[in-house]
Amino acid sequence: MTALALILSGGCLPWASTSHIRPPRNRRPRIMLLETTGYCPCGKCCNWRRNWYGRPVIASGPMRGRPKRVGWTASGTRAHRGTIAADTSVFPYGTIMYVPGYGFGRVEDTGSALKGNHIDLFFRHHSQAVKWGRRRLRVKVWPPRR
Ligand SMILES: [Zn+2]
Repeated sequence: MTALALILSGGCLPWASTSHIRPPRNRRPRIMLLETTGYCPCGKCCNWRRNWYGRPVIASGPMRGRPKRVGWTASGTRAHRGTIAADTSVFPYGTIMYVPGYGFGRVEDTGSALKGNHIDLFFRHHSQAVKWGRRRLRVKVWPPRR
């Protein structure tokens, strides 16, 4: 595949390790102390498993057994470096954040285990998510414009 085809395919480019997300201009962020963890597209992080013929399905909860689109967020975007999962009653979709050690990100995903001031940062590989661990950090937060 040519480099151009790779770009047009819209997938996660292997060398694109930093996020393209930037903060809104002329708006001051709120600084919030948040609990941060990491996640990746794997079944362990995203609550899915393969059914008897190999199709990914949701592993548990009220949606158990329903088809799972692996690598896609709850808001319908492709998960990528910079995707943040949060409790959307606190941080609505589109909230932009700057997380020290991770960079800029945007809330595009949710998770049943995420409540209040706990956010989950997307990584491509499980080992990176595990390496991040759990960190309490002062995060810059730009809420979406109403
Ligand atoms: Zn994982």
